Amino acid sequence: MLEPVTIRDNAKKIMVIEDNCITLCQLRDYLGEQGYSIIPCKRCDDAMTLLEEVTPDLIILDIIMPDVDGYELCKWLKSHSRLKMIPIVFLTAKTSLEDKLEGFQTGGDDYITKPFAEEELLARIQAILNRINSYYSISMRDELTGAYNRRYLKERMDEEFYRVRRTGRPFSIVVLDIDFFKNINDIYGHYAGDSVLVEFVRFLQTRLRKSDLIARLGGDEFLVLLPDTTSGRAYFLVERLRQSLEEIRFYHKKDGIATENQVTISAGIACCPEHGDTEEILFTLADVALYNAKKSGRNATKIAEGANEGIACK
Ligand code: GH3
Ligand code: MG
Repeated sequence: MLEPVTIRDNAKKIMVIEDNCITLCQLRDYLGEQGYSIIPCKRCDDAMTLLEEVTPDLIILDIIMPDVDGYELCKWLKSHSRLKMIPIVFLTAKTSLEDKLEGFQTGGDDYITKPFAEEELLARIQAILNRINSYYSISMRDELTGAYNRRYLKERMDEEFYRVRRTGRPFSIVVLDIDFFKNINDIYGHYAGDSVLVEFVRFLQTRLRKSDLIARLGGDEFLVLLPDTTSGRAYFLVERLRQSLEEIRFYHKKDGIATENQVTISAGIACCPEHGDTEEILFTLADVALYNAKKSGRNATKIAEGANEGIACK
């Protein structure tokens, strides 16, 4: 197997499956210079083995190869639940109309014939990746507030659990719920309620780190994921947020008259690995802590305790 171009953390990963060594090295070097991480494979069966562990952002696929032909590999990819969304660009010496049609019918996103211009290949790859990127950024956000949604939260939580296992560094989750939010809807109307949700997310975005994640769980309930943060540090941060929210005023119109009101939050914190190492346990514990914060009179923060039965909060 050829040496891959160094995998950079944020670089898009392109798998190149090509039995011709000269073309394979050319693509590895050229696309590597353009900032992509390249996974080169000379054979389809090598690619299939690697695909058990990696999920590339795009695959460049030759058709005529010694083991499995490119069309067959493409069909296999399209039948695989994790891999079927990966865009495939055929790069091949097969130039007839029938070949091209077969390429698209088996699930290819583009079809480029050899000899090819590197710049054109790059432009086509960028167009596909940009399109996917914009779909992806829409699909991971809550429409109203722009906070992340549960689907994206799940992906990020999985990454955080992996990071904890690898580095031992903790992360915390905070479940936040606006106090008496229903009153805002009842008194000022649903639009006023919506604007409080939007303003609240802006408030969080301006006060949290770029690496922290804000997700809307539903209604007036949010989750903040704090990487590299102990429960004690999370408590300090959330208390600071809670107190500074008390200073903020939200403006609405009631019967044509501008009125201002104040919003408070209650919060429950759970930390991995301190309180648990699965999503279910952390969510349950953070929820119990939130419930206790509400029960204590609201406008309060509580930390979960223990991962077992008889959960208590301090
Ligand atoms: P608590 O202090 O116990 O959290 O009380 P609460 O009034 O905040 O909580 P409750 O769960 O009773 O009310 C949440 C309300 O949020 C009920 C629902 O109608 C409203 N809601 C849910 N989603 C939206 C939304 O997208 N926009 C608006 N404006 N209201 C929403
Ligand atoms: Mg509420």
